[in-house]
Amino acid sequence: MSAIQTAQLMDGTGLAKRVVEEAAARAGEISRRAGTSPCLATVLVGEDPASVTYVRMKRARSAKAGIRSRQIGLPATTTTAELVDSLTALSDDPDVHGILLQHPCGPHIDERAAFEAIAPEKDVDGVTMRSFAAMSFGLPGFVSCTPGGIMRLLDAYDVDLAGKHAVVVGRSAILGKPAGMLLLAEDATVTYCHSRTADLPGIVREADVVVAAVGRPRLIRGEDIKPGAVVIDAGYNRGNVGDVDFDTAVTRARLITPVPGGVGPMTIAVLLAQTVEAAANQLGIPHR
Ligand code: NAP
Repeated sequence: MSAIQTAQLMDGTGLAKRVVEEAAARAGEISRRAGTSPCLATVLVGEDPASVTYVRMKRARSAKAGIRSRQIGLPATTTTAELVDSLTALSDDPDVHGILLQHPCGPHIDERAAFEAIAPEKDVDGVTMRSFAAMSFGLPGFVSCTPGGIMRLLDAYDVDLAGKHAVVVGRSAILGKPAGMLLLAEDATVTYCHSRTADLPGIVREADVVVAAVGRPRLIRGEDIKPGAVVIDAGYNRGNVGDVDFDTAVTRARLITPVPGGVGPMTIAVLLAQTVEAAANQLGIPHR
C-alpha cells in the first residue's frame, strides 16, 4: 500500500505572529522616539454581532501590539453624509494614524462614498480607490489586508510566481481583484474567475497557484487541483470550512493553507503592520 502524498501546510498563524511581533517592536520604537504610540480608529455603524466581534478582536490585537485604538460606534440609522463627516474628521485628526471602517455598513450606506472619505495616508485597510490604483501601478500605498497577507504567505514559503499561471476565483474589490493585481506584479500570468465563468473546474485544472476567494463551501474540488499546485484558500464559511475541499486538495497540492489558521490570521497582522507604518510615516520616524 503506497502512502498518500500530502501537501505542506502554510502556517498563517505562525507567520502572523512574527509579523505582529515585528509591528509591536516598531510601535515601541515609535512611542519612544515620537512620544506617542500609533493609533487606529475603528468605525462601526450599527451593532451587527459579527461586525462587533471583528472590531473587538482587531482592537484587542492592536492593544497587544502597542497600538492605541479609538472606537467610533455610530447608530444603525447613521446616514452616508454623517458617516462621511465622521471619517473626514478622523482623516483630519493628527492623533489618528490609521482608519478602519468595518463593513458591510448596511444597505442604506453608500460604502464607496464612505471609503473615499478616508485619507489615503491613513487607509491602512487598503479600501480606497487611490490605494487600489497605487497598488496596481506599483506605487507606495497600503494594500488591501487579505491580499497583502496572501502575498506575505507566498513569499514566506518561497513560492516563485514568475511565469506561473495563477487562477483567482472571486473578484471582489477587497479580495479577489487586488489579489490578482499583486500576483500580476510578481509576474504571474493571472486569470480571474467569477460567478459567470464558464468551466471553472477546467480553468482551475490549469493553475499552478489557486487563490480561492468566493465564500462557497468546498466549491473548488481536490480532483481539479493540478498535482504540485499551491493552493491559497481565503474563503471562510460556517463551520470553519474554506472554499476548497481541503481533504482531497491536500493529497494533490504542494502547499496549501488550512482553514482556519491560513489566510485568516494574516489579515489582522497586515492591518496592524500597516497601521504602524502609517504612524511612522506621519510622525516622521524613518527606519533606523
Ligand atoms: P464577495 O464580495 O461575496 O465576492 C465573492 C466573489 O466570488 C464574487 O466575485 C463572485 O462572483 C464570486 N463567486 C460567487 N459564486 C461563485 C461561483 N459559484 N463560482 C465562481 N465564483 C463565484 O466575497 P469576499 O468579500 O471577496 O469574500 C470571499 C470569501 O473570503 C468569503 O468566504 C469571506 O468570508 C472570505 N474572506 C476572508 C477574509 C480573511 O480575513 N480570511 C477576509 C475577507 C473575506 P461575481 O463577482 O460574479 O458575483
